[in-house]
Amino acid sequence: MCVCDEGARNDLNDLGTRRGYQLGGPYDLRRRGRAASIPAMTATWTDRALGSVLGLALGDALGAPFEFTRSEEIPDPLPAFERPWLGLPPGTPTDDTAMARSLMRSLAERGGFDAGDLLERHVGWLASEPPDVGALTRRVLSMVAPGRPPDEAARLVWEQRGPEVSAGNGSVMYCAPLGVAYAHRPEQLHELAPAFSAITHWDERCRTAVTAVTLAVAAFVRGDTRIEAVQGALVAVEDREGAEELEYLVEAAGTQRRIDGPDQGFCLFTAGIALQAALREDENAERTLRRVVGFGGDTDTNAAVAGALVGARDGLAGLPEPWLERLIDRDAIRAEAEALLPLAKRGR
Ligand SMILES: [Mg+2]
Repeated sequence: MCVCDEGARNDLNDLGTRRGYQLGGPYDLRRRGRAASIPAMTATWTDRALGSVLGLALGDALGAPFEFTRSEEIPDPLPAFERPWLGLPPGTPTDDTAMARSLMRSLAERGGFDAGDLLERHVGWLASEPPDVGALTRRVLSMVAPGRPPDEAARLVWEQRGPEVSAGNGSVMYCAPLGVAYAHRPEQLHELAPAFSAITHWDERCRTAVTAVTLAVAAFVRGDTRIEAVQGALVAVEDREGAEELEYLVEAAGTQRRIDGPDQGFCLFTAGIALQAALREDENAERTLRRVVGFGGDTDTNAAVAGALVGARDGLAGLPEPWLERLIDRDAIRAEAEALLPLAKRGR
């Protein structure tokens, strides 16, 4: 099923004009619209589901050594899977992948999204003293009280800190497996994706980013084209908070709008650069992920979300094999992704 009908596409094409900014750059959605007739990829939906998960981990591990670096400071060509991260071997993924793996295990074992179960797993993971935990996530997980509503701690932290510092990318960074699990039941993501974000990231813009990314992942797994998947996701969140900025960033992130400045780590930067990456027709997954890391900023997370989308688009075979060979825990991650497939098949 395509979540984007012809009318919705036309609506989106008019949005930029109505909102007063110029479409027409390299990522012009109207121009992309003419590419909708490109033949579908030959990968099967299961290849694309696995590709999304492995793509997330690959992008995460690729970007890890360059996290919070200015674009100018990143070598070109990018040393891929050559440098350590926090003293750990090259190819080690970060918290993005760790939380995505908890999400996959929870989804598979609970037979669907279970906020309380996922939160419990995250609290257990934090207690294991992982090398890297997002600041907001750590604060929220430290406040979780057993038996309370799963989004209570996130709401309290959001109220204490205020929206200026509470719209980080800590929920969008690992949301892709939710899109995979509900690939053939995408209508459920309109409710589940915001609820998923709200267990750590209460801010409405985080919920918008997660909803758009999971819907796009789901669309790619089903076999939708670039334009159907990305435009469909943007149209689906059109009335949510932050949607206008997200749509702007799909055009402008990394070009007119740098993403390696003081507000790096903003959820809409990450969703915007990743959806933009998924639209590109002129480069393969490897080139896209190198380019996304080269923009600097929150490189591991930006590349994790971009990797999840291009992996869902092109399938496992579209990911660079030499990188997969160097990905730490690749086989375990793949096994967890395979355990998601029965869920992902539902509704097909
Ligand atoms: Mg990370």
